[in-house]
Amino acid sequence: MNHAPTDRPTLERWLTGPRFAALPVRDAAQPPPLLSFEFFPPRTEALEAQLWGCIRRLEPLRPRFVSVTYGAGGTTQARTHATVTRLVRETALVPAAHLTCIGASRAEVDAVARAYWEAGLRHIVALRGDPPPGAAYEPHPDGYAYAADLVAGLRRIGDFEISVAAYPETHPTAISPADDLDNLKRKLDAGATRAITQYFFDAHTFLDFLDRCLAAGITAPIVPGIMPVSNFAQAAKFSAMCGASIPDWLARMFDGTENDPETRRMVAAVVAAEQVRVLQANGIDEFHFYTLNRPDLTYAIAHILGVRPG
Ligand SMILES: Cc1cc2nc3c(=O)[nH]c(=O)nc-3n(C[C@H](O)[C@H](O)[C@H](O)COP(=O)(O)OP(=O)(O)OC[C@H]3O[C@@H](n4cnc5c(N)ncnc54)[C@H](O)[C@@H]3O)c2cc1C
Repeated sequence: MNHAPTDRPTLERWLTGPRFAALPVRDAAQPPPLLSFEFFPPRTEALEAQLWGCIRRLEPLRPRFVSVTYGAGGTTQARTHATVTRLVRETALVPAAHLTCIGASRAEVDAVARAYWEAGLRHIVALRGDPPPGAAYEPHPDGYAYAADLVAGLRRIGDFEISVAAYPETHPTAISPADDLDNLKRKLDAGATRAITQYFFDAHTFLDFLDRCLAAGITAPIVPGIMPVSNFAQAAKFSAMCGASIPDWLARMFDGTENDPETRRMVAAVVAAEQVRVLQANGIDEFHFYTLNRPDLTYAIAHILGVRPG
């Protein structure tokens, strides 16, 4: 049987295209990359057990910090607080609490930040938050209008380390890419020490964004947010809402795996490993992982990047 699309002999066909070298592997003398892991606060006891299993599995990788998200408009306030304070009490990890300013007065947001400070927490991921689907954003009349205002407010409360959000493909409601970049600069100038990006799938999307950040005078680290996709259908739905584009090649990779979780997991591991290896080959040595409270893909990818339990 002949599968060749042309009449040329097979070896000739194979050897006439461009040759791709293997990606370089991290030099063993180089320190391993710095990692951080993001979790969401659990809603039920079963999810709580899953989260803590995930934390215990990833803890030996000694991440620089682990962050816990804050539900839309503060809906998880108590659970986020309970999770970060347990991290302070029971682990050697450095927790960071996400905090949003949408739908709350300055006094309310400040009270949450002070409670964190009193519980021993020293790192906040400062965010504006999203309005409910379909609604336009309206700042609270007595609130911090944007994340840059929140960063400035937190600075007045305590000497927090502050991370903020960045959008390689531009925030979906930004007036323009240049305006969004100005906003990122304002957040860093207000006192944030780093930005963590929205997830993305093409390395050049992130690297082009870094070029633009540098040209805009930004020198703080812009850490890539890595989403190891294990459920493609869900990721595609979520990406449409948060402005992260799904490249055609990614859809093709997962095509046909809808009812085949085993293959899907393997494809997911390969896609994420390739993504971080391309970034590493381009010199990036800090990564933030959206774990979705599942440790396995993150653990394996960290291993591939050269991180070992210690
Ligand atoms: C790493 C990361 C973690 C996240 N964690 C959470 C979480 O835990 N909980 C949660 O609810 N959401 C979270 N989000 C989502 C985030 O809340 C939304 O993306 C939200 O829409 C924007 O938040 P921001 O902090 O980037 O806002 P901002 O930096 O305030 O920007 C929001 C928009 O307003 C524009 N803008 C800023 N200033 C002005 C101005 N003065 N005038 C006009 N326009 C302006 C910006 O260009 C941008 O389009 C996270 C996102 C990322 C990337």
